[in-house]
Parts: sequence; C-alpha cells; structure tokens
Amino acid sequence: MKIIQPDEGEIFDIELDVDILRRNRELADENRRILDEHDIVAVDVMGSVAAGKTSLIVQLTRLLKGKHRIAAFAGDTTTTIDAELIEEAGADVLEINTGKECHLDANLVRKALQSIDLDQFDVLLIENVGNIICPADFPLGSHKRLVVISLTDGPYVVMKHPFVFQDAEVAVINKVDLAQATGISPDKLETQLLEVKPSLKVVRMNSLTGEGAARLASALDL
Ligand code: MG
Ligand code: ZN
Repeated sequence: MKIIQPDEGEIFDIELDVDILRRNRELADENRRILDEHDIVAVDVMGSVAAGKTSLIVQLTRLLKGKHRIAAFAGDTTTTIDAELIEEAGADVLEINTGKECHLDANLVRKALQSIDLDQFDVLLIENVGNIICPADFPLGSHKRLVVISLTDGPYVVMKHPFVFQDAEVAVINKVDLAQATGISPDKLETQLLEVKPSLKVVRMNSLTGEGAARLASALDL
C-alpha cells in the first residue's frame, strides 16, 4: 500500500510551526510559575469527543470539593453545556470558547488565569477540547496531564495516538461498564498504554457512576 508521510523534520500542518510551538512552551512555563506562586495544582484533562472528560471532572469535583477549593476551565469550541455541569458539581468554572481551534493553548490558559482570583483555589482542572491529537503538542503549564480514553473509542485508540500518552502522567480507561457491549478489553488497552509509556498510571473508571474516582484522585496526588 502506498503511504504518504512527511520527510524527516517536515511538518505538514502549518499550525505546528516550530516558532508557534516554542512560543507556546514559553507561555506554558510562565503559567506554571504563576500557578506555583499561588500553590495551585493544575491538571490538563485531554480526551476524544465524548470520552467522558466532563463527567470525570464532575466526579473529581464532587469527591474533592470538601478538601480542596477547585477551579475549572472548560475548553470547548462553543456552548457552556459542560461548564454548567462542572459548576453544578461545586467548582468555580470559567468557560474558554476556542471557536474553530481544536485545542487549548498556553496563551488562552494564561488569559483565563488572569481573570480568576488565584488565591481562592488549590486545584485547577482544565478540560481541553475533545481531541487527542494536537493538544499533545500544546502544553498549558499544568503539573499533570491526564488522558481519558473510553471503551467506545474502539480497540486501537492507544496504538493510533501514542504521542498524547507519552507526555501524560495518568491515563483513564473510562466506561469500563461497557466491556461486554463493546467487546473491548480494558486489560488489552491497559497493556497497550503501558507499552507506550511504562511509567503511566492507569485508572479504570465509570465516570457516570463515579466508580474509580477515588483511585483517580490518588493517582493525581490530589
Ligand atoms: Mg466535555
Ligand atoms: Zn488543534
């Protein structure tokens, strides 16, 4: 089969221009300094559309709101549907609408950081846009990166998108209640995740019921 692929060092997507990535990294480093100054631990939550990022953040918020003061940034192309759900769970939420952009970047996050009172929070949960490709290239300055996959993402999601996991500390296998219905084995996905990154902490979860939320919190040291 004929395969078209970039030559060594060639980048197809103009968005991934080296200067843009470098500038993003500088801004991410600044974000990290700002967060550290205010003793805030930030988690970048990535995952495909409908993997369960919002419901996972809702469950974490419910679990941790008695222990930490939680802020959340809800990144979405449009709408405040997710932001409202997270707010109901007990976090202070700021919506970041990216328009046509398919990922958050450090500049958007910095703007968001400038519009909240950083002394009021201990934990910041950042829901990235539903996508596990380009968010990997745009660190936000978070302390931890978490990738949510779900059994409905299919059996090859890890093998097809290894890069996003390499920069992450924690991966969640979500919707484990659907193992039988989907015929997809959480064990196999976990094996693949650990092949991509042996040090990854893998947590199985049902983000609708909250099963696994406590394990996730401890994997994130929260
Ligand atoms: Mg969402
Ligand atoms: Zn993107």
